[in-house]
Amino acid sequence: MKYRLICLFVFMVAAFASGKVTLPSLGFDYEALSPFVSKDTLQFHHDKHHAKYVSVTNELIANTDMEEMDVIEIIRKSYAEQNQVLFNNAAQSYNHAFFWQCMKPQGGGEPRGVLADMISMSFGSFEHFSEQFSKAAAAVFGSGWVWLVHNSQDDKLSVMKTIGADCPITQYGLTPLLALDVWEHAYYLDYQNLRPKYIDNFMKYLVDWEFVGSNLPTKNVEF
Ligand code: FE
Repeated sequence: MKYRLICLFVFMVAAFASGKVTLPSLGFDYEALSPFVSKDTLQFHHDKHHAKYVSVTNELIANTDMEEMDVIEIIRKSYAEQNQVLFNNAAQSYNHAFFWQCMKPQGGGEPRGVLADMISMSFGSFEHFSEQFSKAAAAVFGSGWVWLVHNSQDDKLSVMKTIGADCPITQYGLTPLLALDVWEHAYYLDYQNLRPKYIDNFMKYLVDWEFVGSNLPTKNVEF
């Protein structure tokens, strides 16, 4: 628990510190999610794919007015300005940093407390939510993400698919709570074409519901 709090603190400092987009550590060992996500997958995914998004983002913002912005500001500005290359790399830097925190060794099971209540209120039951999330993840065509988001306009949760690097933070009132990467680089070494098996294992054995619940916004939070 103490280790995870330290990791969370390091992530917050690293990912949201002003001035530079950084590559946060995974928060667990490369072997920690085996056999559901292998050491090889985590090494390629974090050290190669995620690292590349971060380095390209920093190259693109160097000597511009975005150099001192945090990653969320860069995402929103590049999205508004339709700067697609910068948006893709900045959003993927954010998406992956968020995604690593959505998993933990011996994760999965069901959420508790306020999050559990909100899931039941929004989807009818945890089983309905889980089914909807898994179906959406399997249905993403090509590369993309599936999210559990909170919508401040109706104070409800919903499942959202995004394509490519897109993420919920570009849309008014949406706060991401949970993300699952369904790009092939996230699962192909371990599952080949069997994306549904990867999704199933993520839900059963990996989700860190404590982290997901910690993302619920406090009331009256501003976009
Ligand atoms: Fe990825």
